[in-house]
Amino acid sequence: MIILKTARELKLMRAAGRISQRALRLAGEAVEPGVTTKEIDDIVRKYIEGQGAIPSFLGYGGFPASACISVNNVVVHGIPSEKCVLKQGDIVSIDVGAFIDGFHGDNAWTFPCGDITKDAQRLLKTTEEALFKGIEAAVAGARVGDIGHAVQTYAELRSYSVVRDYVGHGVGAKLHEDPSVPNYGAPGRGARLLPGMAIAIEPMVNMGSHEVKVLSDKWTAVTKDGSLSAHFEHTLAITPEGPVILTLPD
Ligand code: MG
Repeated sequence: MIILKTARELKLMRAAGRISQRALRLAGEAVEPGVTTKEIDDIVRKYIEGQGAIPSFLGYGGFPASACISVNNVVVHGIPSEKCVLKQGDIVSIDVGAFIDGFHGDNAWTFPCGDITKDAQRLLKTTEEALFKGIEAAVAGARVGDIGHAVQTYAELRSYSVVRDYVGHGVGAKLHEDPSVPNYGAPGRGARLLPGMAIAIEPMVNMGSHEVKVLSDKWTAVTKDGSLSAHFEHTLAITPEGPVILTLPD
């Protein structure tokens, strides 16, 4: 069931989105060679809790940390660890959510660790741009398939593939609500986008094949072929005036 939000509720979601965004930015600023992903997770948790909010992912389905930190061939749901030391040339996907006053914000970004290869730069740029193609398609009256089609077309024209096994989603009082928002699909198909809907669009784009597998820790999703993967996400509201990103700075 798709839950529409009132203007007042969207205002609360904006506050949750702002905290999520700030936590993500602080995490990104901490990415450098020699830093562990556990240290970055601590920064995220400390900031969110300091704002009187709750890290959305901590304990979600048993997830043991506040941020998902996914390095290189890890697609999503990487578990922060003292053993995971970032090195020059890594690409580091960080996914962060915050819950406050009854609502969640959810956002993700892939950060370069020091200098990265031209190929990796192109993957990051393309995935970020694919996210914004999806956002542009998220207008009232369009359908969920229009978003997926925009994202998929943009990534595939640049010879990348979009992950199928994980998708975007509605966001609100629950972190994951209806509808599912795949990063692939046919235009004109799927649920209609209505004013008051809040959704997270989150393309995961692989340099190689779209196939992923989950490691024995039951969380870490990696590309099957070992290729690099990038992940960018915003939470946004569908309004009569067009999509409004809730996870942006002021
Ligand atoms: Mg999400």
